Amino acid sequence: MELGSAALLAWRGVQLAKGGQSSSLDWLIDLAGGVSRNVLQRLLLDAPHAMVSLHLPLDELEQLWERHLAFDEPLQHLVGRCPWRDLLLEVSPAALIPRQETELLVDLALSLLEREPPCRWADLGTGSGAMAVSLSRAWPHSTGHAVDLSGAALGLAERNLVSLSPHHRCLLHQGSWWDPLKPWWGSFDLVVSNPPYIPHSLVADLDAVVRDHEPHLALSGGEDGLDSLRAVISGAAQALSSGGLLLIEHHHDQSDSVLQLMQESGLVQISAASDLEGVKRFAIGRSPLQSSPPPGNCNVAGA
Ligand code: GLN
Repeated sequence: MELGSAALLAWRGVQLAKGGQSSSLDWLIDLAGGVSRNVLQRLLLDAPHAMVSLHLPLDELEQLWERHLAFDEPLQHLVGRCPWRDLLLEVSPAALIPRQETELLVDLALSLLEREPPCRWADLGTGSGAMAVSLSRAWPHSTGHAVDLSGAALGLAERNLVSLSPHHRCLLHQGSWWDPLKPWWGSFDLVVSNPPYIPHSLVADLDAVVRDHEPHLALSGGEDGLDSLRAVISGAAQALSSGGLLLIEHHHDQSDSVLQLMQESGLVQISAASDLEGVKRFAIGRSPLQSSPPPGNCNVAGA
């Protein structure tokens, strides 16, 4: 629908007076209304007589905003979409809304394997499939494996793979961490994981928008937050190929513990990487190089 910008800006002012943050409302106007934040900014500066085209009538946008304010429903759930890296992913309460810091885990993987794409990679605890979609698009000839305990999350990941990487070669597996991947143990050149890592006692203190609407299965990492990190790290030396890489995300204060877990599990070349705020949020480790068997050949191991 076409609308005068003055009417849109007046409506925006009324909504902001009800509460919430202008950045959130502008996100909603962008993602659900189709008026980008750049356009909105220009209108706010000096275009009171311009016409704008909205994808949703204002009263429907208003209902979404009021649901967000009243029930702390994440805007991403209300819109059903979330921009992440170069993707517009489908999201739902079945899986964690992909976070900005996890974009860096993909960047790390792409830069560390820039010269030699992996034959086989895996994403453990794939959730919405955000990382699996990105890796499938980056390496169309590699075979991927996306694992999740939740069937509903895998359904979401599959829809994202099909719509955003239509020729993907990513197999989906329901199960716990490495378990469903047993047939391919020893052949993973790269494994990425953003497992649940929040100490259980802290989950109750999370913002309501997270605590009340995102799956605790994807958030709670047990008593000390390290349960899933332990499970992923302890299987890595066996499951990775010779020299294979494990890249894992963790909580802001877990770097020392996670690096130590990697060391104890026999990984080598262990290091930490930081998020955009300079906080160590990622751990990197390699499986030791073995003199034999010979390096994997992408064509012999089968799917
Ligand atoms: N980073 C997420 C949050 O703080 C948690 C993600 C996770 O547990 N893997 O809400």
